Amino acid sequence: MENSNTIYDITRAIVAGFHELFGHGVHQLYSRNLPESLRLTDEIGFIITTGPVTEGFADIAEHDSYDFLKNSKKELGVSDEMLEYAILSSQNSKLRIALKLYLALLNEKAKRENFDIRSYLIDGLKLPYEFVEWYLSRDPLLKDVFEVFGHAFSGFIRSNLKKELVQEFGEQFLLQHPDIVRKAMATGVWSSKIYPKAVKYFLKKYTES
Ligand SMILES: [Zn+2]
Repeated sequence: MENSNTIYDITRAIVAGFHELFGHGVHQLYSRNLPESLRLTDEIGFIITTGPVTEGFADIAEHDSYDFLKNSKKELGVSDEMLEYAILSSQNSKLRIALKLYLALLNEKAKRENFDIRSYLIDGLKLPYEFVEWYLSRDPLLKDVFEVFGHAFSGFIRSNLKKELVQEFGEQFLLQHPDIVRKAMATGVWSSKIYPKAVKYFLKKYTES
């Protein structure tokens, strides 16, 4: 949508809306009756052990926005180019966050050990000189990137959970019961190790009831 000099890109709002509402919002809703330590709250849902799970669930919802955008691009006035850009930038944001975390770790290493970070990044990883200098001038530290820890590992949670659920229930079952699968995924906030076990437990429970 274009109005004078301002361009509104509705795809960004939709992708973010799916992440926040159908991801974190739904997670909050289905975990609200559990003990406090398992509910999605600011205190519990975004600490270093649970962050990958809550962001992983929101990431699954964010991926649903791709199909929504594809199916409603005509009504929304979204061109193929805008659609491609929206999907790429959503996927790219996770990679950018993972890179940020990785560079902060290397920067910490450079401070503690005899490690030539510039040579490693520019000569070894072939990252552009300007980017490396700009990034290091900000002195990135691990304590500054804790809040993105969950986002950086969300993709891993998504693929790991899918693999485990397919193994136990079969792809057909998961396709036939999308609502209870999603509800089981959103019941409680867990550490990444426990999460697949908890989802399987609730999926069985919801199927039986
Ligand atoms: Zn999020």
